Amino acid sequence: MAFLFHNRQKVNVRSLQIHATQACNLACDGCTSFSQFKLKGMLTPLAAKEWFDAWRKRIQPEKVCLLGGEPTINPDLCELLEMMGKSFPSPHTKRLLTTNAFFLDRHPDLRTVLRRFKIEIRISIHSDEPDYLEKIKIAIREVETWKGVSKLFTNNSGKPIPGFKFNDEKWTQRYIVNKDHILPFDDKNPRKSWEVCTAKMNLQLFDSKLWKCPIITYLRLVSPEKLPNSVWQNYLKYKPLEPTCSDEELRRFVSIEEEEICGMCPSTTISFAKANPF
Ligand code: SF4
Repeated sequence: MAFLFHNRQKVNVRSLQIHATQACNLACDGCTSFSQFKLKGMLTPLAAKEWFDAWRKRIQPEKVCLLGGEPTINPDLCELLEMMGKSFPSPHTKRLLTTNAFFLDRHPDLRTVLRRFKIEIRISIHSDEPDYLEKIKIAIREVETWKGVSKLFTNNSGKPIPGFKFNDEKWTQRYIVNKDHILPFDDKNPRKSWEVCTAKMNLQLFDSKLWKCPIITYLRLVSPEKLPNSVWQNYLKYKPLEPTCSDEELRRFVSIEEEEICGMCPSTTISFAKANPF
């Protein structure tokens, strides 16, 4: 695959994501991080340092993104962004913060940190509900005044909202929610599933290890009662890449395309209308 090459002895990766928290104030259907199931977990600066130090000298991300869950819930957001900026300072790396903008006002230093480390803020809009839009427009108007900070506002609501463009990445189904249970697809075509997957380039840095995609990473944080063992046990045995890996293992990891675990995802693109996330 074309997305593997060396860059000053580092291995190139298309996209690296780090969750500042698994918690979210919204509950969006089909979240690739399962955050609508009230996951817990807050990244501390101490843990983040360990995670970044494990990989920053070995990989060169084209894009690195701090997100969640909702990252503004984490009281250490600015410190985490600073660490991300220092760990991946290359001008060839696009640094991003993706947020729903609900709690920007909890972080008075945010604009300074974003400007200093050239981190773009991406605000995603998740609903066309009038009350929500009123609130979000206030946050957007505020961010628009932040000079020297790159910003992008994307409409992820699934519905047209005047003044906001749709995100290129459409909201698609990645698993089945059936009453109290979450179920995998069983299309038995991992190659096709990988080909249509919108999350396949998004390696996750979690627990100091590299993981193939958000689904396989955060699945294990979902309450076991929601995951029938008979259908999930093989997927939950997935082994991420340890920082002790060899260079050859790292190169192989970032270049591999479909894997057996891709069998848990649909082999066709299934778009759906997103319900109210409140
Ligand atoms: S398991 Fe494979 S197909 Fe499913 S989300 Fe991850 S990379 Fe995509």
